[in-house]
Amino acid sequence: MTNNTFDQVHASHNWEEIRQSIYSKTESDVEQALNSHNATLEDFKALISPAAEPYLEQMAAKSRAITQQRFGKTIQMYIPLYLSNACANACVYCGFSHDNDIKRITLNKEQVLEEIKVIKDMGFEHLLLVTGEHPADCGFEYLKEIMEVIRPHFSLISIEVQPMLQEHYEQLIELGLHTVYVYQETYNREKYKSYHPKGKKSDFSYRLETSERLGKAGIHKIGIGCLLGLEDWRTDSFFTALHLDYLEKTYWRTKYSISFPRLRPHTGAFQPNHEVNDRQLAQLIMAYRIFNPDVDLSLSTRESKVFRDNMLQLGVTAMSAGSKTEPGGYAVYNKALEQFSVADDRSPDEISRMIQSKGYETVWKDWDSGMMG
Ligand code: SF4
Repeated sequence: MTNNTFDQVHASHNWEEIRQSIYSKTESDVEQALNSHNATLEDFKALISPAAEPYLEQMAAKSRAITQQRFGKTIQMYIPLYLSNACANACVYCGFSHDNDIKRITLNKEQVLEEIKVIKDMGFEHLLLVTGEHPADCGFEYLKEIMEVIRPHFSLISIEVQPMLQEHYEQLIELGLHTVYVYQETYNREKYKSYHPKGKKSDFSYRLETSERLGKAGIHKIGIGCLLGLEDWRTDSFFTALHLDYLEKTYWRTKYSISFPRLRPHTGAFQPNHEVNDRQLAQLIMAYRIFNPDVDLSLSTRESKVFRDNMLQLGVTAMSAGSKTEPGGYAVYNKALEQFSVADDRSPDEISRMIQSKGYETVWKDWDSGMMG
């Protein structure tokens, strides 16, 4: 166990030097990474570098083999439930930004029950609760109440909400919380504030240290990632891998997951500064798998049908389906405002059939809190 926090580890790395070292990787570095049995962070740099672009087929074969060896031919299914679009932050790329003049909705307990009835009928056992970051409207106390309502209905509950204190995580774990997703958005400390100018989220270090509080609280799984499109995706992804490496060594009882949100169109029309195309995203996903056989790799319905269908055999282990990305989207309201556009609008049943047609098994439930005694 290291004595440094990840904030300190991060501060000891220079963004520009890392960027240059990724872009100077050669084909021989890529071949060495592909032949390695235990890929290192240097190998990961080679695999995400431009020099690896001619090696996508070899990367795909290796990524597929490692994934099948570790996870079998399975895809875990989950669905997000947006509880609130209230937010005190003003992320420049998000439709829920405090600065956007939109109708704000926070679901009450009765509305949540209406929503989960529809979700249960679709067959889901893994529910991801999502809120904006508004301590008064949808902070810890609200989440505690909602967790109590939801717990009897799902075997696995995860959250993607505002960062909280360790003691708050401890209480939510007692109530059945399994996984927390908290994305740094960008690991570029200098640029971070230009994307997150207001509210608690503007504090880079507080956000970065959330995973430490989670690890200390004893959470079962932590999801990390960056928002692809803000800064150079290769450099940001190196820092995500560095973060993963640190967490696995420091909080070794916890499991980890990486997601790949790419910027989508929304109210306010923020355009990605560093667009990531499909080939590059495939390269990135396969590089993570070769670097880390154990990490869950998750693809949401932000991605297209074709891309998701192709990637499910090449490293991905979890997928959302049937997603509505606005509060009340399943039953209570027809339409409020989506946080991001859904590109894959197939029903969970259609996606499950697609997964099975490729010889894979759809996993609706792979966890029960009873497993922890
Ligand atoms: S990304 Fe999250 S924190 Fe930022 S404005 Fe949107 S909902 Fe709020």
